[in-house]
Amino acid sequence: MTNYIFKKENHQYLEVGKIICLARTYKKHAKEMKSKVPKEPLLFLKPSSSVIFDNQNIKKPEMSECLHHEIELGIVISKKCKNISRKHALDYVLGYCVCIDVTARDIQTIAKKNGWPWSISKGFDTFAPIGNIILKDDFINPNDCDLLLKVNGEIRQNSNTKNMVFTIQEIISFISKIMTLERGDLIMTGTPEGVSEIKKDDMIEAYLNGSCEIKTYVE
Ligand code: MG
Repeated sequence: MTNYIFKKENHQYLEVGKIICLARTYKKHAKEMKSKVPKEPLLFLKPSSSVIFDNQNIKKPEMSECLHHEIELGIVISKKCKNISRKHALDYVLGYCVCIDVTARDIQTIAKKNGWPWSISKGFDTFAPIGNIILKDDFINPNDCDLLLKVNGEIRQNSNTKNMVFTIQEIISFISKIMTLERGDLIMTGTPEGVSEIKKDDMIEAYLNGSCEIKTYVE
């Protein structure tokens, strides 16, 4: 399995580092999951081995009977940093991409009830489809970009990052106070409302600011 973010501009590849994910960053999604929005970012990790790219497929694991899609804005880190302020946070961003945080919802529901971590429900191979990176200079405003996800051509998620309860600067600064961020690390910033089940042979398309960046099927 490939494990690189493709930079269109200069045909270079960048290895994906650790993947830090946020949960419950959109009020309407927290509500649909019957969860509360946290005061500080709520984090979990996904393994880099879960990454796939446009035109690669999501493989349904035998352990789960219910996969969900979660479209999210991804932030790609450009250089090593630690304890950075909100003011300087974007200085450490290489660019942005659209991501799908594929979730085994049945396994996650059991984990939530028992207070267990989400590593299994979020960590299967192919559970992190990501689009090509759009370099920071080509990106207008990460705090105001459209996210749209279709399943078999039908819109399921349609929101904007301005509906997040944290800004991109707050998220990067917060994470950098916990762990050193390094070049190639990917932050998945959480999903808006509209998550739903995806089944074998479904076609999933993820759009960032109106441009389709990921097309994938469930195998
Ligand atoms: Mg998510």
